Amino acid sequence: MSLEHRCADLHLHTYFSDGTYSPEELVAQAQRQDLQALALTDHDTVEGCAPTAAACDRLGIEFIAGTELTAEQDGHEIHILGYGIDLENPRFLTEIGKFQAVRQNRIREMVQRLNQLNVPLQAEKVFALANCRAPGRPHVARALVQAGLVGSLDEAFERFLKKNRPAWVPKFKMSAREATQLIHESGGVAVMAHPGLNRSDEGIPIMVEGGLDGIECFHTKHSAAISEHYLQMAARYQLLVTGGSDCHGLSKGRPLIGSVRLAYEHVEKLKARAAERRAATARHIPA
Ligand SMILES: [Zn+2]
Ligand SMILES: [Zn+2]
Repeated sequence: MSLEHRCADLHLHTYFSDGTYSPEELVAQAQRQDLQALALTDHDTVEGCAPTAAACDRLGIEFIAGTELTAEQDGHEIHILGYGIDLENPRFLTEIGKFQAVRQNRIREMVQRLNQLNVPLQAEKVFALANCRAPGRPHVARALVQAGLVGSLDEAFERFLKKNRPAWVPKFKMSAREATQLIHESGGVAVMAHPGLNRSDEGIPIMVEGGLDGIECFHTKHSAAISEHYLQMAARYQLLVTGGSDCHGLSKGRPLIGSVRLAYEHVEKLKARAAERRAATARHIPA
């Protein structure tokens, strides 16, 4: 296939975070969508990277390791994608281990609040259903549905889990600068995810100063006008351009994978930056 027709989806989740697909199912879908490259970006974990890489290898799809970290800029929750991270980096593994512990405690707290509301859900049910190190609200919602305590995922969020609803628990967040630094020190490239969902463009120049490498211009929830807006912003701040569907499997109806198709030239630039970063971190490793 000629270079200019190659496409990638650089924002995907599996059941290693809050997606429903196994790595194998995800990669089979990528093949069906005729994608030549993909990145896995599970929340606060890179556990799914090795099996996804192996599945990609079998089908001749290029794999880029990634993760999606939750951070904060000026009081707004933002998500930062890390691409090309060294999956063995000890500091990175320690830090995301901490985020995972925080997530697990948050589940226990949400369940406690539900119990106080006479909703008899057990934390163990959520953990069993999530079966991953990065459980989150979608898993609590699914456990509530499974236990017959609510009629639907939407109801679970509307009645209990949405921000400021009675079982909602605030999430611990590091600053955008800390997330960016952690990604850099792990040899990765830091990209602001779905800026169109944040409506906080004022934070972008500050994040650029903090070392942000790129911006996710193309996303399922970006209209053409929003994508164009962020392409202009990427040009203004000399940021890399990325894009992805943010597919979570079948949890929200039709799978989104392949609905955003990033031109391969952007993947090449991303890979070049990751290679620079890796070389830089390698130089800093003490002998
Ligand atoms: Zn996100
Ligand atoms: Zn995501």
